[in-house]
Amino acid sequence: MSDLIKLLSDAVANQIAAGEVIQRPASVIKELVENSIDAGATEIQIQVKDAGKTFIQIIDNGCGMSQTDARMCFERHATSKISKAEDLFAIKTMGFRGEALASIAAIASVEVKTKTETSSVGTHICISGSEIISQEPTACPVGTNFLIKNLFYNVPARRKFLKSDRAEYRHILNELHRIILTNPEISFTFVSDGNPVFQIKPENLRQRIVTVFGKNLNQNLISINTDTSIVNVSGFIAKPERSKKSTGEQFFFVNNRYMYHPYFRKAISMAYNKLIPEGEHPTFFIYLDVDPANIDINIHPTKTEIKFEDEQAIFQILNAAVKESLGKFNIVPSLEFEENITRDAHFTSKTSFKAPNIPINPDYNPFEQSSTPKYQRNKIPENWESVYTTNKSQTPDDFYLPQENIPTQTSLLDQQSVKNEERNIFFQLKNKYILTSGKSGLILINQKRAHEQILYEKFLKLLETRKGVVQKTLFPVVFQPAPSDRAILVEVLSELNNIGFEIVMMGSDKFEIRGVPGDLTDIDPQKTLEQMVYVLGEISASAEMVLHEKIALSLAKTAAFKIGKHLHEEEMQDLFYRLMSCANHNHTADGKKILEIISIDEIERKLN
Ligand code: ADP
Ligand code: MG
Repeated sequence: MSDLIKLLSDAVANQIAAGEVIQRPASVIKELVENSIDAGATEIQIQVKDAGKTFIQIIDNGCGMSQTDARMCFERHATSKISKAEDLFAIKTMGFRGEALASIAAIASVEVKTKTETSSVGTHICISGSEIISQEPTACPVGTNFLIKNLFYNVPARRKFLKSDRAEYRHILNELHRIILTNPEISFTFVSDGNPVFQIKPENLRQRIVTVFGKNLNQNLISINTDTSIVNVSGFIAKPERSKKSTGEQFFFVNNRYMYHPYFRKAISMAYNKLIPEGEHPTFFIYLDVDPANIDINIHPTKTEIKFEDEQAIFQILNAAVKESLGKFNIVPSLEFEENITRDAHFTSKTSFKAPNIPINPDYNPFEQSSTPKYQRNKIPENWESVYTTNKSQTPDDFYLPQENIPTQTSLLDQQSVKNEERNIFFQLKNKYILTSGKSGLILINQKRAHEQILYEKFLKLLETRKGVVQKTLFPVVFQPAPSDRAILVEVLSELNNIGFEIVMMGSDKFEIRGVPGDLTDIDPQKTLEQMVYVLGEISASAEMVLHEKIALSLAKTAAFKIGKHLHEEEMQDLFYRLMSCANHNHTADGKKILEIISIDEIERKLN
């Protein structure tokens, strides 16, 4: 038999390596920008078209490459950053594997123009699918200019895996944020589809954080600084009122490199224990400095997961450092007295009028209107019975599971029990689920999803009828969202105003919130909007929804009460009837199950 083993060609090997290093346009940008930083650039311009799918251009004013290096840089394991294995343990630069450019050149068309200070002429190289197409001298400024076109053109499976432009764009912004936040002394310009997204000048770290996440953050930042023999901790944490429903404002960096570290994140959350509502996450930008010999940055190809030698000790140090900073700013004591708590983050100490103190209401329920009775019998839809009947055309989502278990044209609920309120019992489990009895069995409801669906259908209707009722806010709130959120907000502004918000643009980057939808008066308008924009970005990845649906869903998700909310019986009943009058009471708009029925048969089988 002939020999079977053969060495893979370089092009194939590079394509395989690319699978690990380059997952999406954002990975290309990360690698190229990090190279520019390693090359000592002070100005970096990033330009993309179609979220990087069509092209990505990175221009820097770094040291540039000689003619030979410009050719060499596309070889695998070609790097100027390490030469012996020991160097791996003393890494201070971003790249070091010498894989990125070889990988990118294997799966895209790459053009580079580069020149060093000492050479009189630059080099222009075109390479595609690992093959050099051309190399010639060119006139260009000192520095490097990379143009990456048609990413994954020769790996259709990968290309198919890419998400919508909006989702890929979000990945790019996330990568850029991580880089921008570690290099405040570098200017960055980012242009997407010809529109300038940001142009950031050199500044200090605090200013840089505020530039990225919006001016309102400034008054909430608290510096943090602790030096120990195993780690130096610096950076900023934010006051509890800045907490978010997402983890989008949580950043750890080690030796100026972004890292993902759930264990350390827990150290921070624990320090905020009880200061922020359940389900929310503190904002922090924490920079760790450790001896590179004590970490292993090589455990993950994209290098965001990092192993530390002294994880437990660092956990303690972080936890103590955050507690200390919170304590220094008197945040802990002031929260011990509930009546002192100001949940309103929009007033600064410089504001001339006195802001009213709004205590945290742990039982906050956005659809509960305090002055009116919690449960209004007339909210039950006239035709409520019809929703329990097996009418396939009315309930396409198959409300009833096995058809034969339910006699047609009969109510699922024991009708008598509904007519006689006392007998219709609602029971809450773990502050998460509502249980009630129906004619054919036990009905289990996920209360948060139920609320989400009720709000979703309501908002969707308002978006279509444009008849939202505005409740004017007592004090209009001016806020300046992060540049990345601004574009999304502008896009959906008129729709939000149809729902019942009253938001006006003030200049090019500020918004004034003058009113909120009538039944969302309990919300923190700015926080809700920020969160809504975030969720909108997340769900936009699914192309099947139209804009109205996306807006309604993101707002419903944001405004729905949190998991773990205790509900009184009338509230459960109210929620149940509202859910039953929804067009779809089985699944949320993003396909999550709201309701489950355990049939009598099943119960009998179990208890037999
Ligand atoms: P690594 O960054 O791990 O060394 P890369 O494949 O990213 O590997 O880059 C290979 C080499 O190309 C780098 O080590 C560097 O010498 C050179 N290089 C890449 N980008 C630039 C740039 N923008 N300016 C100067 N040199 C660069
Ligand atoms: Mg690199």
